[in-house]
Amino acid sequence: MLSLGIEGTAHTVGVGVVEDDDGRCRVLAKVSRMYHPVKGGIHPREAANHHAEHLPGLIKKAFEEADVEPGEVEVVAFSQGPGLGPCLRTAATAARALALSLGKPLVGVNHCVAHLEIGRGTTGCGDPVLLYVSGGNTQVIAFANHRYRVFGETLDIGVGNCLDKLGRYMGLSFPSGPAIERLARKGETYVDLPYTIKGMDVAFSGLLTAAQQYYDKGVRIEDVCYSVQETVFAALTEVTERAMAHVGKDEVLLGGGVACNRRLRSMVKTMAEERGASFFVPDDSLCVDNGVMIAWTGLLMHKSGVRMRVEESFVDQRFRTDMVDVRWRR
Ligand code: AMP
Ligand code: MG
Repeated sequence: MLSLGIEGTAHTVGVGVVEDDDGRCRVLAKVSRMYHPVKGGIHPREAANHHAEHLPGLIKKAFEEADVEPGEVEVVAFSQGPGLGPCLRTAATAARALALSLGKPLVGVNHCVAHLEIGRGTTGCGDPVLLYVSGGNTQVIAFANHRYRVFGETLDIGVGNCLDKLGRYMGLSFPSGPAIERLARKGETYVDLPYTIKGMDVAFSGLLTAAQQYYDKGVRIEDVCYSVQETVFAALTEVTERAMAHVGKDEVLLGGGVACNRRLRSMVKTMAEERGASFFVPDDSLCVDNGVMIAWTGLLMHKSGVRMRVEESFVDQRFRTDMVDVRWRR
């Protein structure tokens, strides 16, 4: 079965084409464009305009890269939420138009669930605890009682957002995660930062303010980055470990753009090894937002019998992970 997916929840617009290879995801096409704000953070309407401008070309390019005719696609999937309203509506409109013109079924996909499914589909893990760390989202997710349940999450800002805000404050370009990772490697001195864990949840805004104050006081940028990474990633690793212990799972999966970070990977991997668990992370290009994960999750949903009329395909900015009926894992 062939599926095309359109991602457009925030800064990235992407199109993916995938094929079901005996339960594994075979990627046939993966194309994307990222919106870079000229100044400040993401402006939702500007990002949506960017997506609208690039989607026709990206869809065409995806068909070419996959070397398939549009009519061969059996389902058209799109990111239904959570995300920024104008961006979600733009991706959904493109998906509806494509599905209607091809006469193919349409399916709306939860973005967070897609980060988990692409890990299962490409890395070989079966029933992991997912540490989903991206710009807007930070959640610890695991399958329990027919649904993907959120065991812990950020109480304020997403971890990527924390890094991007700090980066912007210190004059780094957007997104700042990769630059912070490079600078952190040259860090030598750890400065104390708030380490906020409440039960299974985390919070980063206090740490962000404290890091900005260190920077203002002249602490080396390398040491600020190093200290922020060590603190934030330790907190994320701690809640992930607690979730694994609670739900009794012996696989851990990373997803989201921050999962590209090698220091975070090594901390979570060490934690997994120490408890005799297995560690999985998808390819970098599948950690960041992408159309492939939407195509793959849409394919799983369609195969399990999920059907959605165009009239029912509203986007949902606050689409929660645990609202999805995970029929494909019955
Ligand atoms: P996403 O929203 O899943 O596409 O992820 C985007 C976020 O990932 C942005 O906040 C980036 O700053 C962050 N990011 C990307 N690469 C890295 C990295 N190597 N280290 C830390 N954060 C990263
Ligand atoms: Mg994401």
